Amino acid sequence: MYEAPTGALAKQFIEQEEHFSAHNYHPLPVVIERAESVFMWDVEGVRYFDFLSGYSSVNQGHCHPKIVASCTQQVQKLTLTSRAFHHHLFGPYAAFITSLFGYDKVLPMNTGVEAVETAIKLCRKWAYEKKSIPSNKAKIIVCEGNFHGRTSGVISFSTDEESTRNFGPYLPGFITIPYNDCEALEKALADPHVAGFLVEPIQGEAGVVVPAFGYLNKAAQLCREKQVLLLADEIQTGLGRTGKRLACDHENVRPDILILGKALSGGLLPVSAVLADDEIMLTIKPGQHGSTYGGNPLACAIAKTALEVIEEERLAENAAERGIQLRAGIKEINSPYIKLVRGQGLLNAIVIAHPDPNAAWNLCIEMKNRGLLAKPTHGDKIRLAPPLVISAAQIEEALGIIRDSLPLLNYK
Ligand code: PLP
Repeated sequence: MYEAPTGALAKQFIEQEEHFSAHNYHPLPVVIERAESVFMWDVEGVRYFDFLSGYSSVNQGHCHPKIVASCTQQVQKLTLTSRAFHHHLFGPYAAFITSLFGYDKVLPMNTGVEAVETAIKLCRKWAYEKKSIPSNKAKIIVCEGNFHGRTSGVISFSTDEESTRNFGPYLPGFITIPYNDCEALEKALADPHVAGFLVEPIQGEAGVVVPAFGYLNKAAQLCREKQVLLLADEIQTGLGRTGKRLACDHENVRPDILILGKALSGGLLPVSAVLADDEIMLTIKPGQHGSTYGGNPLACAIAKTALEVIEEERLAENAAERGIQLRAGIKEINSPYIKLVRGQGLLNAIVIAHPDPNAAWNLCIEMKNRGLLAKPTHGDKIRLAPPLVISAAQIEEALGIIRDSLPLLNYK
């Protein structure tokens, strides 16, 4: 593999991390110390474009001043009550987020995967109590190539070897069908015990796989016909990332259960949410589900401001325009090493064509050396997902870095 010239200070931090922490990630050899807007700086003071955005968590840009102000104000006043007591920020936050997305109720959680678990539990509860599916027989349809997080429950229906090997036994009750395949969905829906269809509007972790236009709409219609809930995991695609408030908005689809996370805090702390109407949400009663930190005052203050920033700064609109510019610019580079570029808004990926299986990694190292951070996924794909505040001039500068880095792959 191509080696990065890493500074002495960075080396020291990397070695310490390797020694004392679990080896469950394979980071690029760069040690970040601070960040602002679309940029991050390493411990040696070198500046980089952030083209990962914390896996789409910092849509609003790093350390957005308005979100940071909300956080610093709130952190000195009240941070946690648990849901054993009421606090004065939860009601206003719940009212705000439900009205923004058009649902009766919200259930607040922390990480994305917790929100997915919540959605699954909610769907099952609804299935038994409203759809009268016999006890323990409810099934949820999921897609090949899905990524919904890392808990034992959620990896039970992952089709990724790496995520599942030697973590069994797995949770039953899931039917896997190919992504972007309405015929397969229709067939699977023939099973009367199906309660829900859990889907990512674009498969982010699989390498930004964009389904055919119309897929979500058709899926929603098929689910409706069979009284099956549509569960949309918009943890990565939502909150402006794809050029609309939600990726489902591109097809005017309203999921029965909407799952949000990541950018809901603008990258300040784990905040996630599940939204649904009363018929579904009120099947969960006190004591049946929860989380100590879910809906805490700090999270409510931060999430409300993080949502306001997305709306006030028209970040979805900017993502749409800059996304078009980015994909066009990459096509213009016309490199033999870029098999294709795909995406929507500022959730994009390039697929690398090269005989070396480490080519995408090597290209990421070269881009890092030239001032842009991106990460390969599934070997040959590189996600290009900068914060949504990026300007046209900054996209041009980033395209220059990508263009100048590609000749590195002129080796066999
Ligand atoms: N769902 C999707 C679509 C994701 O992209 C992710 C994370 O990448 C998750 C769920 C899990 O979120 P978290 O890592 O916050 O648990």
